[in-house]
Amino acid sequence: MRKLYSILAGVVLMLASQLSHAELHVLACEPEWASLATELGGDKLKVYSATNALQDPHHIEARPSLIARTRNADLLVCTGMELETGWLPVLLRQSGNARIAPGQPGNFVAGNYVEHLDVPSRLDRSEGDVHADGNPHIQQDPRNIAAVADALAKRLEQIDPADAAYYEARHKDFSARWNAAIAKWEKQAAPLKGVAVIEHHENMEYLLHWLGMHVVGTLEPKPGVEPSAAHLLQLLDHLQQQPAKMVLRAAYQDERASRWLADRAHIPAVVLPFTVGGDDRAKDLFGLFDDTVQRLLEGAK
Ligand SMILES: [Zn+2]
Repeated sequence: MRKLYSILAGVVLMLASQLSHAELHVLACEPEWASLATELGGDKLKVYSATNALQDPHHIEARPSLIARTRNADLLVCTGMELETGWLPVLLRQSGNARIAPGQPGNFVAGNYVEHLDVPSRLDRSEGDVHADGNPHIQQDPRNIAAVADALAKRLEQIDPADAAYYEARHKDFSARWNAAIAKWEKQAAPLKGVAVIEHHENMEYLLHWLGMHVVGTLEPKPGVEPSAAHLLQLLDHLQQQPAKMVLRAAYQDERASRWLADRAHIPAVVLPFTVGGDDRAKDLFGLFDDTVQRLLEGAK
């Protein structure tokens, strides 16, 4: 009998400890925010990313497994700035989860905490996939990651006040390591200043802006419109007057147009991980920028 009591007591204790350590379910729209949430929330969070680095974040399918994840999420972490307009509203509607509806504490929009590039003075949808809030690919500047980290740590503390000290400590630790890493990357990337590139889609602006590089053309004739043969020929011609050092594309983008132009212009085609998981070295946010800077330096040689 005593043995049974002690077993029961053990079970009760175990259940109680599980309840007090209930994890927050975080659903990130993109891998970079999943990674950042993990940096800040450690084992207090169960983090899942709706997209991976080999998917175009503008377009994914709201599949049933993703709807289930959305239904039990306590916190949604997305870029916003219209990046997810093609799929997130559908997902939110189908999940019926009021905690993460727009405007709720459970709905965190990273784009609200950074400066926007490429905000159109005039919105003309005939110009392709143009976003009213500016270019949404903000994760490519590590200073934006720092700004989002500050806001996300506060949001975690608000949603889960019992663990506020834990989030605060992790945020402090992350910020120190992150700022040191930014200084290191900026030093390494000094030779990239002024280097001209061609990009596939207008999704490298924040990266190029950070490093003082510049774009002389895009493979897409208009944002979100696939490269055409006529446009590529024009670009090749344009490169005669305005040379570029490399053709950039993100890991999720088709390589053909990039290779075609690079081969004919005799410059390297460089693939960047673009987000966490984009290649073997981009295992976390630190690896993402370590690898990005390295690949740019190799391309500019
Ligand atoms: Zn885009």
